[in-house]
Amino acid sequence: MTNVHQRKECNCQICRRPSDDALCRYHREAFRRLVKHYKVWKERKGFTWEQYLEGISSNEMTGAWVREVAEYAIKEGIREPSEPGA
Ligand SMILES: [Zn+2]
Repeated sequence: MTNVHQRKECNCQICRRPSDDALCRYHREAFRRLVKHYKVWKERKGFTWEQYLEGISSNEMTGAWVREVAEYAIKEGIREPSEPGA
């Protein structure tokens, strides 16, 4: 199957909302929160990035947006984000 009508703009990899990036602004924001929250888990519980993502994606208490980005990160094999200047 070839898609000849390849569009310039892409859609959010998670919700398919039109976006100029791999993720829409909602999921980008959720990803930002996911990363921020990770630092807490890492420090408190010694979780690795992978363990954290698993925990988040299966936690019913987690907001849907964040859970979706966690699942996305697992599926895509997104590595632990490094923090510039940290
Ligand atoms: Zn999205």
